[in-house]
Amino acid sequence: MSLQIAIDGPVGAGKSTIAKECAKRLGIVYMDTGALYRAVGVYCKESGVDAYDEEAVADYLKNINIKIRLADGVQYIIINDKDITDRIRTPEASMLASKVSSYGAVRAFLLDLQRDFAANNSVIMDGRDIGTVILPKADVKIFLSADAEERARRRYDELVGKGQSVNFDDVLKDLEKRDRNDSSRANAPLKQADDAILLNTTGFTFNESVERVMQIIKSKG
Ligand code: C5P
Repeated sequence: MSLQIAIDGPVGAGKSTIAKECAKRLGIVYMDTGALYRAVGVYCKESGVDAYDEEAVADYLKNINIKIRLADGVQYIIINDKDITDRIRTPEASMLASKVSSYGAVRAFLLDLQRDFAANNSVIMDGRDIGTVILPKADVKIFLSADAEERARRRYDELVGKGQSVNFDDVLKDLEKRDRNDSSRANAPLKQADDAILLNTTGFTFNESVERVMQIIKSKG
C-alpha cells in the first residue's frame, strides 16, 4: 500500500527540511516540487526566454524535457539530459519560480510528473498546492507555517550557510513578496486544504517540528 503525504505552506516554513527528515524516518521518498518550478524558471532564463512573458514561456515548454532523479536521498532535476540542480537555489531562481509557477501552462506541464511520481512511490511531497490540487486524496495533509520574521530568519541562515551573501531585510521582503504572489494567483494558489492540519512551528526547534509532524502522520496515515 502506498502512502501519500502532502505538506504545503509559505516560504521558509521548514517544509523541505522537515519533510526530508520524516521521509527518512518513514523509509519513504521525499519530493521537493518547488525545485521543478525553479528549474523551469532558471532554464527559461538561461535559454534567453523572458520569464515574465507568459506566452513566451508557455510556448517554450515544448523544448523542455524535465526529469527527477533520486540518488542517496538527494533529488536532482534534469532538463534535456543536463543536471540543473546546483543552479536553482539562488534568490533570483526563487523569484523566477514564483513568476513561472503562476502560469497555467507551466502548472499543467508539471502536473503529471508529480502525480506519476506519487502513484509509483510512497511519498512525502512539499509545495503549495499538493493537498489542494496535486494529491487531493492524500492520506495525510499538513499545512506548515510560522511567523514571517522567523521564516525569514531561517531562510537567511540557510542561504548564509550555503555561502551566499544576502541581507536579512531583502530576504524578508522577497519572502513576503513570494507569499503574496503565491497566495493571490488564479492558478492553484497557496492555500490550506479544507482537510489539512495546520501546524504553526513558530518557536519550535527543528526536532520539535519533526516530532509534531511525525505524530500527525502516525495518527492519520
Ligand atoms: O518551495 P520553493 O520555495 O522552492 O518554491 C519556489 C516557488 O515555486 C514558490 O514560491 C512557488 O511560487 C512555486 N511553487 C508552486 N507550487 C509548488 C511548489 C512551488 O507554485 N507546489
